[in-house]
Amino acid sequence: MSDCIFCKIAAGEIPSRKVYEDGELIAFHDVNPVAPVHFMIVPKEHIDSLESCHARHELLLGRILLLVPVLAKEQGLNDGFKTVINTGKGGGQVVFHLHVHVIGGGKLSHV
Ligand code: IMP
Repeated sequence: MSDCIFCKIAAGEIPSRKVYEDGELIAFHDVNPVAPVHFMIVPKEHIDSLESCHARHELLLGRILLLVPVLAKEQGLNDGFKTVINTGKGGGQVVFHLHVHVIGGGKLSHV
């Protein structure tokens, strides 16, 4: 999508503090972190939100979730982390390109 900020980051058109990249996924630090470590895992394919996922995204979603603990460890989160997917306006989603927040390294709120 031409006006999607995460598509632009995935395409390298907007700089990001990259944590990971492969053919399908990119992970980068959040510009407005809510904890000492706060990054997001994002599919390069534009998918609006979790609500827009279909059966064909099963493998992609699995890959994202399996990558979470790997990258969390790499970022020094050895004592656990929080994983958040905001979905839709009512779910607090601001950027309408699917992303999984990984947050940790400080005192976190419950849920
Ligand atoms: P959401 O509420 O789950 O949609 O979260 C979107 C997140 O994207 C927010 O935490 C923003 O701080 C973050 N964000 C917005 N623009 C950028 C950017 O250009 N680089 C990195 N993070 C961004």
